[in-house]
Amino acid sequence: MRRNIGWLLVAAAALTALCLELQMHWGGIGVANPIDDFSELAAAISAAVAAGFRARASVDRWRWSWGLIAAGAGCWAVGQGIWSYYELVAHQVTPFPSMADAGYLLFPVLALIGLLLRPAVSFARHGRLRIMLDGILAAASLFVLTWVSTLGAVLHAGASSRFDLAVSLAYPVGDLLLLTVTLVVVTNAQAHARLGLVLLATGFAALSVADSGFAYLTTAGSYGTGNVIDAGWVTGFAILAVAALKDRPSAANGSRAPVSNLTLMLPYGPALLGLVLTVYRVRGHHSDNVSLAAAAVIMLVLLIRQFLVLHDNRGLVTVITRQALYDNLTGLANRSLFADRLEHALDLHRRDMRELAILFIDLDDFKLVNDGLGHAMGDRLLVHVAERLRGALRPGDTFARLGGDEFAVLLEDGGEPVTVAQRLCDALRAPFVINGQEILSRASIGVASVPSDTQTPTGADIMSNADIAMYRAKRLGKNDLCLYLPGMGHSDVTDFAMSVALAAAVAEGAIGVAYQPIVDLATGELHAFEALARWQHEGQDVSPVVFIPIAERLGLMSTLTDHMLVKACAQIADWSALPGGEKVRISVNVPSALLADWDFPKRVSAAIARFGMLPQQLALEITETALIADPERAKQLCHRLTAAGALLSLDDFGSGYSSLAHLQSIPLHSLKIDKTFIERIGQDGPADVLIAAIITLSHQLGLKVIAEGIESDRQLEVLTKLGCELGQGFIFARPLTSESAAQLLASSHLPRFAAASS
Ligand code: C2E
Ligand code: CA
Ligand code: CA
Repeated sequence: MRRNIGWLLVAAAALTALCLELQMHWGGIGVANPIDDFSELAAAISAAVAAGFRARASVDRWRWSWGLIAAGAGCWAVGQGIWSYYELVAHQVTPFPSMADAGYLLFPVLALIGLLLRPAVSFARHGRLRIMLDGILAAASLFVLTWVSTLGAVLHAGASSRFDLAVSLAYPVGDLLLLTVTLVVVTNAQAHARLGLVLLATGFAALSVADSGFAYLTTAGSYGTGNVIDAGWVTGFAILAVAALKDRPSAANGSRAPVSNLTLMLPYGPALLGLVLTVYRVRGHHSDNVSLAAAAVIMLVLLIRQFLVLHDNRGLVTVITRQALYDNLTGLANRSLFADRLEHALDLHRRDMRELAILFIDLDDFKLVNDGLGHAMGDRLLVHVAERLRGALRPGDTFARLGGDEFAVLLEDGGEPVTVAQRLCDALRAPFVINGQEILSRASIGVASVPSDTQTPTGADIMSNADIAMYRAKRLGKNDLCLYLPGMGHSDVTDFAMSVALAAAVAEGAIGVAYQPIVDLATGELHAFEALARWQHEGQDVSPVVFIPIAERLGLMSTLTDHMLVKACAQIADWSALPGGEKVRISVNVPSALLADWDFPKRVSAAIARFGMLPQQLALEITETALIADPERAKQLCHRLTAAGALLSLDDFGSGYSSLAHLQSIPLHSLKIDKTFIERIGQDGPADVLIAAIITLSHQLGLKVIAEGIESDRQLEVLTKLGCELGQGFIFARPLTSESAAQLLASSHLPRFAAASS
């Protein structure tokens, strides 16, 4: 900064000295002329060198642009060289026109092409048209200026030949064009490219002033070297040199700078000037049709420009309205539009008893996608989900994204809200494929309806009811719908009492264990048990589907799992001492969070060591979701768990996110096909084919397959036929108490198979 100011001061001092010398002619014409000629030459050469330097440092069109400007300045310098030769060496008056004029005139031509070569920035709506209009505006206004100052005079003064006249006119016309284009380019440049351009424009302006002065004085016959206007060329080229050094190429399709007030007003400046000059001329009783015509053009262009602005603004208003009422990401209605439609529907209910219903949709475990696969992926998933759900609705239904992973539907024409909700659940059944990656995204849906014969609720009430129902659907295992019924409390309230009791139970180790047999489907022999957590609250059994998520939220899962682990290991040790129980196996469920806990494998080792069992007697059931957030870490933990001696089993396969291929790097022993697949065996769907594929692939990966939730003979039959080796389900046994499990162990065969095998 300091240095810049220093240079500026030096430049200003030098310029002042030059002007003074040109004005005063100290030392006579013999001193003033060489000083004048040489400083012009030096300025033009420095501009050529600086522009050449910028060209070398640039690429593509930037290089050409600066290269041409450099060439232009070079030509001008050559012209100046010729002029100086006549004057200083040959000591004669430079003829007009001469070769010097060719050099001088090549400058605006080359500079103009150079300017036009600058890569265009991306334009707004009507952008190109508007730029063109601005160009015409600038040209017409500058034309009036040049006409009034030089052109008219040059024309009127006439010349000895047409060629002479043309050369005289070429100066102001060339400058006019150059200035116009510069003005337009400056107006539309990106902010960071503007400094260089403004300098460029200033340089051109200074050159034009000098040119016009020169043309005017030459026609008036009163020009001679050593005129003060010559300082204009020196200044102009000096500024050009600085511009070349300061120019920053902008990215070819970079964004446009935010439009500043100055930029907005820029075209009006020359327009005003042009109009004022015309009025001034006409008032001075010049019958100047040329100025009048230019003024008419200026007015016309101003009008068109104004119209375009109005038109653009109307478009803007539409855009803003859209943004206020619609969701940016999915294009669905947003919360405020939804609230508005809901109010309207409630009005109709109040007036005509027209029934309505609300579906409140919340995606299950969406956070896992966001955390594990990134927000960009999360956003894309939301767009896909919105599309699918939209497809499952009728065109008249209001479908909105309330924010995050929450959606809502307003049904106004009766319809069966539960059926619609079911349809939405079904729509999300198939996985989404994004970037070649399969992602499952299911939803929990709360349904609140307002039948015709009830009092009209408030919008807030019905939304809250739908919300309560949605939470209930979540607590009952997610991926399902739940209808709001009067008296259903907000889950948080119930949760609170439950949370306190659950925390106490976990702390006291008051969580029970049930053992559900896993059976060899070929022989009917008992293969293993799965340990399932059991808890009673106020004398009632609470399903793990309800209390496990609460425990997760309370951060109790680590303690609870340790508890289950120790219980299971103790049970293995006990049973191993019984006849028939030597090789008993028990699996324990491991929540996702523990697959990020480096300490967990140590605790598993400790438990195995403490009860002196064979390591392979303990299996750990992990879920796919555990592998999503930080796959690398989870993978390493899995390896440590197997190193500790536990077998790993992948639980709930098919309900999660990854595909089998992703699991290759995990040291799995077996895979449990999720109940939802088994449920659909025999129904007309692709379940059988999918199960067959899973079994085949598992076998190829060396995994044993366990089918969960087998309830019917048909399911058992299909699974056996498909080569599934292990099974678990009510058809064999429900989760048992430790005593019942021990009895079963002694007989080794399950009752169902007892007849067949005895
Ligand atoms: P899960 O790990 O998939 O456990 C199997 C669940 O399916 C058990 O429900 C079991 O009773 C049930 N089930 C078994 N056979 C059938 C059948 O033929 N039909 C049907 N409809 N269901 C069957 P449960 O005990 O209610 O446990 C539910 C879930 O709670 C478990 O699903 C598991 O995710 C979680 N859970 C239970 N205990 C624990 C635990 O100690 N730790 C962790 N982290 N999660 C647990
Ligand atoms: Ca399990
Ligand atoms: Ca399972």
